[in-house]
Amino acid sequence: MSKNSVIIIGAGIGGLSAGCYAQMSGLDSQIFEVHNKPGGQCTAWKRSGYVFDGCIHHLAGCRPGYLLYSMWEELGALPTRTIIFPEDMTQVEDENGKAFHVYTDLDRLQQHMKEIAPQDASAIDRYIKSASGFTHLDLLETALLSGGAFAKRLPSLLKLARLGAPMKVYAEKFKNPFLRKAFPTIQYDWPDTPVFVHLNMIGNCDAKNYGVPVGGSLEFSKAIEQRYRRLGGELNYNSYVKEVLVEDNKAVGVKLVDETLYKADVVVSDAFAYTTIFDLLGGRFGNQKIRNQYSTPSDNAVMGIQVSFGLARDLSKEPRAMVLFLKKPVKIADREHDRLDLELFGYDPTLAPVGNSVLKILLDTSYSFWKDLYYDNHEKYEKEKAAVAETLLTELETRFPDITSQVEAQDVATPITMERYTGVGQGFENKLGFFEGMSLLKGPPQTLPRLKNFYMIGATAGGAGIPGCAAQGRNLIRKICREKRVPFTPTKS
Ligand SMILES: Cc1cc2nc3c(=O)[nH]c(=O)nc-3n(C[C@H](O)[C@H](O)[C@H](O)COP(=O)(O)OP(=O)(O)OC[C@H]3O[C@@H](n4cnc5c(N)ncnc54)[C@H](O)[C@@H]3O)c2cc1C
Repeated sequence: MSKNSVIIIGAGIGGLSAGCYAQMSGLDSQIFEVHNKPGGQCTAWKRSGYVFDGCIHHLAGCRPGYLLYSMWEELGALPTRTIIFPEDMTQVEDENGKAFHVYTDLDRLQQHMKEIAPQDASAIDRYIKSASGFTHLDLLETALLSGGAFAKRLPSLLKLARLGAPMKVYAEKFKNPFLRKAFPTIQYDWPDTPVFVHLNMIGNCDAKNYGVPVGGSLEFSKAIEQRYRRLGGELNYNSYVKEVLVEDNKAVGVKLVDETLYKADVVVSDAFAYTTIFDLLGGRFGNQKIRNQYSTPSDNAVMGIQVSFGLARDLSKEPRAMVLFLKKPVKIADREHDRLDLELFGYDPTLAPVGNSVLKILLDTSYSFWKDLYYDNHEKYEKEKAAVAETLLTELETRFPDITSQVEAQDVATPITMERYTGVGQGFENKLGFFEGMSLLKGPPQTLPRLKNFYMIGATAGGAGIPGCAAQGRNLIRKICREKRVPFTPTKS
């Protein structure tokens, strides 16, 4: 390889992005991916004529004029895709069927909330006003701001600390009991998430900057993979990197599991951060801070169970997502649930045979629960998966009568499934304070103490969702180009 060569471990969105920008700037890059598909977590899988999507609920940067849109144009991810802008973000239904439609049109949402809770008119007005503040501001594009633009935006970013209350605490501003109960669940049912994350999302949905690409997550990843290949990049599938090669505290290449060696000037890992630091580098490069942040992955697998059903049922008139409160709590796998979080894909006809639809339920779970089952007793693991699907169908019958008889395909993915297919079954608790957390929005690639020519990117190295990981790849190549005195030359596809 040439002097300006880069090896990238993993063809997740961060790795693909880094590869594309490397090629655009005349660097010589290679990606090594253990699987035979691009995208990592940004994926989907087929079952009996249905496509079960594993990722995108919302994609940031769907509106021309926004920085993330330009990045997707450079990566060839959007221009030929149809983007859908569903009219609701989600719909919460209580155990008696009373519904809160979280419309993405803020005027409509304001009116609907006032119909539900006239006594909360002024709290609703303040909530809508705060959300309107994000119709021209996308926090996720912070990673792409130039130094000057970032300095200009800093005051508004610092003001976010005032909107840092968790969703469940913000809900106390409403007096209406139904709104108080429903509100904490409307942002992916993450009651502890700071309210500004939700305001940013709903404001950008209203602005039609956040949408969903037709065809699902794998097609989105494949579009970037194709861009990489068109740029002359070399993508090696079925290639498990088992070691990062280091000489004199400099990364110099990688060793694959079949013992073949590949050399390069710079090595980038888009893999799970724990794997990178403790397996591929043997834990030799780190300090106490790194150990605190990365040595103990969280056992709480958020959205760790994904149960997908291919249904002989038309869901095109249903909302795109739902939170369904149950008449009484039900035990599913390791946890008791008083509500279910549904995604309904009736809005995308490419994912199912004509007239049919896909419905998915996401559940939080413990990684260790599934790991113990999988490695101790595989039969029990499979039985537990089947029991999860059966329990869910029983619960869904009330809202979707006859659903059980309409199932044509089903799939239960656990944290172990995700780990086997993407290398990521766990995440990390955010141990960073507000300001450190906010600084991650700038999308810096991570480095390790004393190790030169080596970088970590991707979700577990601080990339915020799909756009954050892609922006990290872009930022990294710009930095490498600066260091090598090579022009950084992004181009539109
Ligand atoms: C259920 C779910 C829903 C989500 N919804 C959204 C959403 O709506 N919007 C959004 O923006 N984001 C969403 N995300 C987050 C988003 O999917 C991730 O942030 C992003 O895809 C992570 O990309 P990455 O660059 O970290 O790579 P990863 O996806 O982590 O991929 C890493 C790749 O590296 C490969 N690899 C690992 N180790 C090795 C090795 N040793 N050798 C070779 N290859 C290796 C893996 O096989 C994998 O392909 C969601 C995530 C999940 C799980």
